[in-house]
Amino acid sequence: MAPRGGSMRGGYLTEEEKANMPKVTLPLLKRIFSYLAPYWKQMAVVLICIIVSSAFGLLPSVLTGKIIDEGLIGQNMRMLVILIITSLGVTLGANLIRVAESYLNTWIAQHITYDMRNKMYKHLQQMSQGFFTSNNQGDIITRMTSDISGVERVITSTFTSILSNVITLVVAMIIMFQESWILALVGMLVIPLFTIPTRWAGKTRWTLTQESQECNDEINGILNETLSVSGQLLVKLFGRENYEYEKYQNANQRMIRLNIKESMAGRWFMVIINTFSSVGPMLLYLVGGILMMKYNSDLTVGDITVLVTLLGRMYGPVNSLLNMQVEWIRSMALFTRIFEYYDMPVEIKNAEDAIIPKSTQGNVEFKHVEFAYNEERKILKDINFELKSGNSIAIVGPSGSGKSTIVNLIPRLYDVLGGEVTFDGVDVRKLDLEYLRNQIGIVSQETYLFNGTIRENLLYAKPDATEEEMIEACKKANIYEFVQKQEKGLDAMVGNRGLKLSGGEKQRLSIARVLLKDPVLFIFDEATASLDSISESKIQEAINPIIESRTSILIAHRLSTILAADEILVIKDGVIAERGVHEELVKAGGTYTELYETQFGKALEKQ
Ligand code: ATP
Repeated sequence: MAPRGGSMRGGYLTEEEKANMPKVTLPLLKRIFSYLAPYWKQMAVVLICIIVSSAFGLLPSVLTGKIIDEGLIGQNMRMLVILIITSLGVTLGANLIRVAESYLNTWIAQHITYDMRNKMYKHLQQMSQGFFTSNNQGDIITRMTSDISGVERVITSTFTSILSNVITLVVAMIIMFQESWILALVGMLVIPLFTIPTRWAGKTRWTLTQESQECNDEINGILNETLSVSGQLLVKLFGRENYEYEKYQNANQRMIRLNIKESMAGRWFMVIINTFSSVGPMLLYLVGGILMMKYNSDLTVGDITVLVTLLGRMYGPVNSLLNMQVEWIRSMALFTRIFEYYDMPVEIKNAEDAIIPKSTQGNVEFKHVEFAYNEERKILKDINFELKSGNSIAIVGPSGSGKSTIVNLIPRLYDVLGGEVTFDGVDVRKLDLEYLRNQIGIVSQETYLFNGTIRENLLYAKPDATEEEMIEACKKANIYEFVQKQEKGLDAMVGNRGLKLSGGEKQRLSIARVLLKDPVLFIFDEATASLDSISESKIQEAINPIIESRTSILIAHRLSTILAADEILVIKDGVIAERGVHEELVKAGGTYTELYETQFGKALEKQ
C-alpha cells in the first residue's frame, strides 16, 4: 500500500508556526471529538475498512514468499496459479475497500465541516459591529473558508493516514517477527538509516523551497508595482528605469540560483537515499543467508523475500508518521483557531426576558449616555436629548465628533458604556433586538447594495412587497424616473455593491429601500461626499417630506435638511455643545455659527 497522508505545506513547521504552537490539552481533544462524535458509527466502519485494507494490503507480500517456496521452488503449478490469483484477488479487495473507506471518509468530513461552517456563520452574524470594524475582513473570511476546509483535510487525510500507517506498521512488524525475530530486528535497526537522510534531505529542500517562494513573491511584488499604470508613470517621471531594471535582474538571478540549487539538492540526496534504502534488503539477505547456511535455520528463500518486501513496505509509513507530528500540530492549531472564534463572546444579544411592546410610538431618549470604542478615548460624554414621536432632530458637528456613533447606539449596533438609550421609555438593551431593529430604518453614509437587481435590493427590506409598493417607494425616493429609464426596469442589475449606479442614485435607492421597510424611526446619515446639485436636490426632495412627517434623526451636512428638523443638536468632541433652532444657533456665535459659515454656507451658495 502506498504511504498515505504526507505534507500539506512541507513536513516542517515555519518559524511562525513554531511561535504559535497550540497547547494540546484534554479539553481541546474532547472538544474536537465532540464534533466527530455524532458520526461515530460511520467512523467505526471507516476504522474497520482501514484495518482490513491495511492488513489486506500486506497480504500479497506474504503470499510472495509462498509463491517462491511452494510454487516456484516446489514446482507446484496448481499452487502457483492459486497463489497468484489469491494475491491479485486480495489486492483488488484491498483497493475496493479503500474506495468505500474514502467515500465514507469524505462523507464524514463534509458533514462535520458543514456543521462547523454553519455554526461559525451563525456566530459571526451575532458578533457586534465592533468586531467587524476591528477585525480584518480577510481574516474573517479565511476563518470561514480555508480554516474550516483545513478541518476537512485533517479528517480525510491526517487522522486516517495516522491510523492506516500505524496499522500497516504494526501488522508488518507482527508478520516479520513471526517469520524470523532475528531478521525482523535487523530490519528495525536499518529503518533509521533510511529515514534520517530522507528527513535531512526533506528539510534542505523545504528550506530552499521557502527561499524560492520568498524570492518569487519579491519578483511578483516588483512586477505588480512597476508594471502597473501608476507605477510606470512614477518610474518614467522619476527616470528610475535602470534602477528598477537592476532590482528586477538581481531578484531574477537569485531565483535562478535557488532553482538550480533546489533541483540539485534533490539529485544528490536521492543518490544517498537510494543507497541507504538498498542497505536494508542487502543486510536481510546477508543475515538470512548466514542463518540458512551456517546455522541451519529453517528459513526459506520465500521467508527472506517476504521479510525484504515487508521492510520495503515499512519505509513509507515510517516517513509519513515522522511527518505526521507536524501535521498533527498544524491540525491542532487549526482547531484552536476555529474554537477561538467560536468562543468569542456575543456582545450584543437579546436579553433573556426581552420585551416586545404591544404598541410603538417611536420616542427616543438619550440619558447621560457615555460611549467609547476602546479604552483609549471616550467618544461620547453625557449625551442627553429626547426625540418625541413625530418630531425630527438634526445632528450637526465637525467630522469625527461622534454623530454616527450616537445614531448607531439606537439599533444597538453598539451598546452604551454608561447611561441609557430608551425607545418608547424602555432601555433598548431590554427590548427584543429583532423588534427594535424592525422599528428603525437607517440610510447610512455608505450605501450598501447587494450585487443583484433593483428589485432584489428593494425586497431585502420587505420580502413580500408588491410591485405597487415598490413603485410607490421608488417614487417617494425620487428614483422611479431612473428605474423607468432602465431597459429592464426594476430588474436592472445594480452591479457589484451598486457600482453601476451613481452615488446619488445609490442613495435614493437606499432611501426607497428604507421607505419600503416603513419603520417608525427614520435615521439618515447624510453623505459628506459631494454630489452635484441636481443629485442633491433630488435627495432633498425625497428626504424632506419624511423629516417633516415622520419621527426622524438626521446627521446633516446641508442647510436645507437642517432647516427641516424641529431641533438641532451640535456635537463637538463627543458632547452636545449647543442645541436649539437655526436662527438662535446662528446668532450664538459658537460651533454652529462656525459650521454655518464654512460648511452649510457653502452648501447654501450651491443651492
Ligand atoms: P463624520 O461626520 O466624519 O461621519 P462623525 O461625527 O459621524 O464623523 P463618528 O463616525 O461617530 O463621527 O466617529 C467618532 C469618532 O469615533 C471618530 O474619531 C472615529 O475615528 C471614531 N470611531 C468611529 N468608529 C470607530 C470604530 N469602529 N472603532 C474605533 N473608533 C471609531
